[in-house]
Amino acid sequence: MTTLAIRGGTVLTASGTHAVDLVVRDGLVDSWRAPGTATDADEVIDATDLHVAPGFVDVHTHLETVVAGVSTADDFASGTRAAAFGGTTTVVDFVRQGPGEDLIERLDDASGRARGRCAVDYGFHQIVGDVRDSSLARFPRLVAAGVPSIKLFMAFPGDLYSDDTQLLRAMRRAAELGIMVMVHAENGLAMEFLRERAREGGHLSLPWHARTATPAIEGEATRRAIVLAELAGMPTLYFVHVSSAEALDAIADARRRGLPVFAETCPHYLYLDVAELDRSWEEGVNFVCAPPLRTQEHRDRLWWALSAGDLSVVSSDHCPFCRSTLFPPERRDFSKLPGGIAGIEYRVPLLYDAALRGRIPLSRFVDVTATSPSRLFGLDPGKGSLAPGSHADITLLDPRGVTRTGASDHHMRTDHSVYESLTLSGSVHAVYLRGQRLVHKGRWVGPEDLGRFIPRRQGTDLYDRRSLPGGDAVDPA
Ligand code: MN
Repeated sequence: MTTLAIRGGTVLTASGTHAVDLVVRDGLVDSWRAPGTATDADEVIDATDLHVAPGFVDVHTHLETVVAGVSTADDFASGTRAAAFGGTTTVVDFVRQGPGEDLIERLDDASGRARGRCAVDYGFHQIVGDVRDSSLARFPRLVAAGVPSIKLFMAFPGDLYSDDTQLLRAMRRAAELGIMVMVHAENGLAMEFLRERAREGGHLSLPWHARTATPAIEGEATRRAIVLAELAGMPTLYFVHVSSAEALDAIADARRRGLPVFAETCPHYLYLDVAELDRSWEEGVNFVCAPPLRTQEHRDRLWWALSAGDLSVVSSDHCPFCRSTLFPPERRDFSKLPGGIAGIEYRVPLLYDAALRGRIPLSRFVDVTATSPSRLFGLDPGKGSLAPGSHADITLLDPRGVTRTGASDHHMRTDHSVYESLTLSGSVHAVYLRGQRLVHKGRWVGPEDLGRFIPRRQGTDLYDRRSLPGGDAVDPA
């Protein structure tokens, strides 16, 4: 039996800050003790002047997968290692079912590739890119496998796209089984219409990526998804990568009516402007993501929603590419680019900086990056908090430290950073996974294959479903 004491620090939780010593035993948080009293452990860590946070949870990553025919730059090993350098100790990655593929075969394939190669703990969501009878028949096996969340795409006709009938059918089955439905809400047919017109006009440059994927297109899809979900018995809905005021308005309306609707945004929507697409092709390609970056007006609304609660989570949507080399001059067409931004390593440092500068409270920072994602996706009580009994996933943060961002220093396998040469307040001091130290002062000091698959249960439902429209039809068994 080995024990570890983390002494003299300030523990951060989603509800506040606490001057306590933490005692860790056999990979779990054993107890909280009065400051300075945890002296009897095998190993004592002095955390004076440090913040002691729960290991951070990133519920939106794309490791070792293929988007628009291009492989993402990080595999399970490099991506999870970069996550740990950035203070994240659990990731939930997307398994892709494309047209004609079998859900369970895809899940088994991803599980096999991830096993023994991850530096931090991990789980999976299942992308359902082909809603048909045989896919729906697999849903109970997803739940049994600890993967009780699916993702549906309203964008990308001809690939992962679901039409309204498919959305309704998948949502209905998900509601019956208590499966969380994650939605990429952009009207793919409307985008195709605008893109075709842009191509006809010879407009292939990067700014057209954003001009053909407007906030209204995101807002319409968000509202429609909520209407369809209500018709389908109201599964818990989770909108990924919310970027616009229009989408936020739809989400806020639904939440005001008491519907179980949740949403995340991502650091790039909080920090980066659509004007980045005006750069040269070589630089601008790195700022292509779906939905596209927006203007300051949208970013202000996202920050407010993060404080007000209509946004529950900040995820990275880590989807890394080295695009400039892949897209030489003859392929310079914005509509052919795989979208995605690398951010698994900088999500926590960016939000910690925001908290230290007073933009959001420290408690809210922990809530949206660790505690709420853990609860919503059924990773608690193991993950997302430092309550006794939880996993001893602990990130020590130094509020007086500094994080310098950029491709020459980061551990993600991209040849660029969209956060080049920023100086952020605060730094990741050390990272522990189930009591074992992985990172210390920017150096890797632990095993690289400690990550385990974490089967998830259905997430915490904060609503009385009996009062919901169509709720009577829902049988949680
Ligand atoms: Mn994504």
